Parts: sequence; structure tokens; C-alpha cells
Amino acid sequence: MPETKALSEPQKALLKLGLARDIDLALHLPLRYEDETRIVKLRDAREGETAQIEATVTDIQVQYRPRRQLVVTVDDGSDTCVLRFFSFYPSQQKALAAGTRLRIRGELKGGFLGWQMVHPSWRPAGGDLPEALTPVYSTVAGLPQAYLRKAVLSGLVRADLSETVPTDAPPAPAQATRWTLRDSLQFLHHPTSDVSLAALEDHSHPAWQRLKAEELLAQQLSQQQSRREHDALRAPPLAALRGGLHEQLLAALPFQLTGAQRRVGEEIATSLARDRPMHRLLQGDVGSGKTIVAALAAAIAIDAGWQCALMAPTEILAEQHFRKLIGWLEPLLAPRGLRVAWLTGSQRKKERTEMLALVASGEAALVIGTHAVIQDQVQFKSLALAIIDEQHRFGVQQRLALRGKMQEPGREPHLLMMSATPIPRTLAMSYYADLDVSTIDELPPGRTPVVTKLISDSRRDEVIERIRGQLAEGRQVYWVCPLIEESENVDLTNATATHEALSGALPGVMVGLLHSRMPVPEKKAVMSLFTGGQMGVLVSTTVIEVGVDVPNASLMVIEHAERFGLSQLHQLRGRVGRGAAASACVLLYSAGDSGRVGETARARLKAMAETNDGFEIARRDLEIRGPGEFLGARQSGAPLLRFADLLTDTALLEWARGVAPAMLDRHPALAAQHISRWLGGKSEFLKA
Ligand code: ADP
Ligand code: MG
Repeated sequence: MPETKALSEPQKALLKLGLARDIDLALHLPLRYEDETRIVKLRDAREGETAQIEATVTDIQVQYRPRRQLVVTVDDGSDTCVLRFFSFYPSQQKALAAGTRLRIRGELKGGFLGWQMVHPSWRPAGGDLPEALTPVYSTVAGLPQAYLRKAVLSGLVRADLSETVPTDAPPAPAQATRWTLRDSLQFLHHPTSDVSLAALEDHSHPAWQRLKAEELLAQQLSQQQSRREHDALRAPPLAALRGGLHEQLLAALPFQLTGAQRRVGEEIATSLARDRPMHRLLQGDVGSGKTIVAALAAAIAIDAGWQCALMAPTEILAEQHFRKLIGWLEPLLAPRGLRVAWLTGSQRKKERTEMLALVASGEAALVIGTHAVIQDQVQFKSLALAIIDEQHRFGVQQRLALRGKMQEPGREPHLLMMSATPIPRTLAMSYYADLDVSTIDELPPGRTPVVTKLISDSRRDEVIERIRGQLAEGRQVYWVCPLIEESENVDLTNATATHEALSGALPGVMVGLLHSRMPVPEKKAVMSLFTGGQMGVLVSTTVIEVGVDVPNASLMVIEHAERFGLSQLHQLRGRVGRGAAASACVLLYSAGDSGRVGETARARLKAMAETNDGFEIARRDLEIRGPGEFLGARQSGAPLLRFADLLTDTALLEWARGVAPAMLDRHPALAAQHISRWLGGKSEFLKA
């Protein structure tokens, strides 16, 4: 039996970084470079520059104030520099004795007392200077740069770097194909010192372009391949019946659909009528009216004699859907002997058993609930349409489980995913290539835009005055406190304290409190008082983030708004402005100890004050945060782009989108090689 050696600390760290194969190492590109090819004279150096000098020690002493430190003065013939070490050993003191010549590298700080370096690296002077820039890689604890450099170098030597982009593919833009993969990688790991560091750092260098083109191609290949696999699946075709439930529901609605709702409704109906499973993302700003579109899709499925499931991430949201859809659909379903079933985790056993029986017999044409919908015991008779609200709050596994609820082998239900966080077009193109996207880009008529105000926390009293004004007009108010996961207790105090303060400041007004730790029945009781209008002010942590619909609420106060993410703020703001009354959103910010709000927080607050448009918000959010978070649960295991930037590399992305299908058709082996090189085993995750 071969001896199995335990992995060393750095080997484990390599695996943690996902650097298992030679090619993974070769593709682990430097974050930045250090220029060790040159010795500079202190006289020519610039403040803040990381410089390499050669100099002679003229003085060495241990100082004790303001704290213990080793202070070494060196002179390179043009100027002197003081080196400070706050931790040091006797052996180092010896090696730094006066008269020694050193090669020293560190960040230069100028000041009243002349040049200084804190904890520079140093070694004896002399020896060859490297010809290439020294790469600096992103690493983790337990993996020293030197070890990583060696590992990358040997990976680079051993990896198969043969070309996979077919020769008959059109050339990539920006000269990306002038460089081979091998040359690009060798260059980027060890660039010569004459190259512009700026072109390396902003990834505009042709070698970078080449790698970005490769990366985007891998992603497109993987996505389009999964789309093809998906297209090979079958689903029951669901056609709307003339005079059926769909038409009856439309006729019964108290409002007219907006043009956008009609358009996406038709897109969905067209997909449902096919014998391939629909895989569609319905995106629309908060309040744009996605629920009725979902209900109309459900009506089509029910008309065709099948069941439909609707899953929402929280019980409050699921219940809201339940009420709304029951209101709309139950009167139409009852004459057909059909019902709506309700499944959640907090349900009593008896009710649950009843509901499960309804689902299994097919009597429940529509099943609404939380994660409880996908549990093993839930057996559908004939599920043909699965709808997921706030899809980014669900994981891949959960979506797969819902799709697996169709009982027939070889067939899958149609899938409609809804989201109020619009995905910018470039993101949709690259991450959701296997997905159709329908967009509601119009709000129902009669909405007055929400006015957003940024107000310092020190002016709380004015805000409370404002609340009084709204209450006097019979309106209702949300007050949201932040939730930070690590310190739930603190948040609770925060929300509770605010609740008490507001109760005190607003005598005679019912002020409610809602937070995630409350038992579900209590939450429901509070919600129903607010929805019913008896409760004037609702203080809550972010549990109201999604879905809550109380048109009479006209003011939203968000405390510590600087701590919230941009799309979260936008979603929260979407809770007001649902009726005809003029509505406002107050973002209370607190500058904290530093006396200043951080730069990204400021950018978020500014974006909120400047626009109400969810797409513009999403675009700015992408700018501020980068693409990772948009992908929601999908990012778990999904290969985020490491090198390409979807905002700026659109030309490369278009190229990759064009090349991928032809490559899958004509060069399947190269395509497989390319995908495996870039994505390894990770491409599976993209298929959900
Ligand atoms: P969201 O897209 O955020 O889920 P909802 O579906 O909850 O939005 O709709 C928000 C509110 O607008 C609901 O009260 C809904 O009944 C109402 N609504 C939806 N469509 C229209 C329409 N075309 N005209 C008027 N009101 C509408
Ligand atoms: Mg909704």
C-alpha cells in the first residue's frame, strides 16, 4: 500500500485557496508586483514609494520611548534613512552592526526627521538583481509568499498550457489573441521591469486581455452547455384556455395590468406553452406588481390540469402571498372543487397533515409556503409550475429540490423565479446565460415617487415631529433598525430602545415591535395589527425587508442607514409609496466615533437620495460592491470572475458569447478541455 503522507501546513493552505492542480497554480495570478530590479538613491526617492536601497549602517540603538524599538540609521551616500523595528532579536541586532552594508526594501516615509522605514525587509548588500518584477500573490495564513511563489512556478512549468481557443474562432478584441496562453501566463507571473506597471495593474495589458478573454469564454461555454442540457429536458406544455381561469382572474382584478405586466405575462405564457421547462427570472422593482403576474402564470398551469407551487423565503411573506392569492383565486377555484394549500414550518401537525393530503391528492391546485414546500414528505400529484419569490434568498440545492418535486421521470416543472433586485444586463448575460429574463420596467399608475432625505442622527427630534404629522393624517410609519449578525443582542437592545423611546414620545399611538427572534405567532399578530391599520408605528429589524405591502404606510425611517447595503435600502424604501399619498424615506445616519461616514457608505446614501430607479441603484451597487453579491446563493461554489470585469470588459464578453456556441458544435473536445482548465469541478454549480 502506498504510504499516505499527511499534508503540510502550506499544502493545506494551497488547497484552501483552491489551488489543487498545476493549472490552478498557473492561473493564480499576482495581485501586484514588487520592483526589486533596481536600487534607488534616497535622494531620488519619493514619499510613500516602496523602494530598494543599498546603504551602510551608521548607528544602531534600542530606544524605549514611546515604545521599545530598534532604531537603525543607514546612509546610502546620497542621504540617510532611519529603520524602525518594534520586534527584534539579539541575532538581528548583531547582523545590523554599524559598518554593515545592507540591501533594504520598504515603504519610505518622509518627515521632519528625514526618511524612515518601519519594518523594512533587509539582507546583506550585493548579489544579482532579478530581471523580472517580483510577483506578490494573494495568500492565506500559513502560506508564505516564498512557498507560494515556488509552487506557482512549478505549476506553471508542469501545467498543460496548449491552446484551446480554436484557430477558426474570430480574433478577440483588444489584441487579446496576439498572445498565447502560455506566453501570457509566463509574462504575467514574471513581467520584465520595462513594462508599464499601470497596464499590469488595471489589467489592460494584452496578456491580461488574453486571460480575461479565456476566463469569459470558459464561463460562456459552461453556461451555454448547461443551457443545451436544459433544453434537452421535457416539461408538460401548459396552454392558457380560452375562457379559463386565467381570463377569469384578469376580469376579476380591481385594476388594469400595466403594459409591462402584460408583456412579461405574455413572455411567460409563451414559455409555458412549450414542452421544454421554462427557466425564467422575473425581475421588477419593489412594488412593480410581480405577484399578480405569478398568479396569472399559476392560473395557466391550473387551467391545464396541473399543480403550481409558490415558495417564499419568510413566513410573513409567504402568508402575504397566501392571503393575496386566496383572495384572487379561491372564488374561482372553489366551483372547480380545487383549493389553495399552505405549508410552513410553524404549522401545527394536524393542519399540516391535512395540507399534505390536499397536495398529494391534487385537490390543492396551488401550494404556497416557505422552505416547508420542498421537504421530503411533500408529495405533489402533478406539479408543473414552481414559482420562487425573492429567488436570491434561496440556494441552488433548494431550487433543485423544488424542480425535483415533479413525479414523472424525464420531465421537470417550469420554473419562474422572481426578484426585486434587478440584475444588470452584463451580469445577466454572463451568469444567467441559461436563464430567460423578463423585466417589469414600469410601476402601476398612481404612485407618487418617494422623497428620500438624509438626516443626521442628532436631529432625531425633527424626525419624530414628522412622524406625528403623518400619524395625524391617518398614515402609518415604519421605523427600521439595523441587524448585524454577529451582535444580535446589541441590535435587539437597539430596536427595543427605539421602540420604548417612540412609545414614550408618541402617547396614545400604538407602537409595535417586530424582530427576527420573536416566535412566529407573535410576529403575525404584530403584522396583522399594522396591516389592519390599528398600529401607527412599526419598529422592526429588517424582517420587513421583503414583500410587506401596506399601502397606507407613508413614511419609512431607517436608523443607522450607513450600515445597510444599497439594494437593501432600496428594498426597504419600496415598502412606502405604495398608495397615492406622498411618501418619504428618512435615512438617519450616524457618523460614529470617527466623526465621518465611510466613503462607500456615503456613496450608498448619495445614490439613495439621487434616484428611485431600481436599475440605476443596481448599477451603482455593482460599481460600489463588485458582482459577487448579486448572485446571491448562486455564488456558493460558483466561479466568480477573477480577472474579467463585467462593467468594462463587455467587448470581451460579447466575443466569448459569440465563440462559445461554435466551439461547442465544432470542437467539443477543446470546449471540454477549456471548461475543465478554468472551472475544474465547479461548473456543476452553474447548472441549477
Ligand atoms: P412586488 O413586485 O414588489 O412583489 P406586488 O406584487 O406586491 O409588488 O404589488 C404591489 C402592489 O401593487 C400590490 O398592492 C398590488 O396589488 C398592486 N398592483 C399590482 N399591479 C397593479 C396594477 N397594474 N395596478 C394597480 N395596482 C397594482
Ligand atoms: Mg413581492
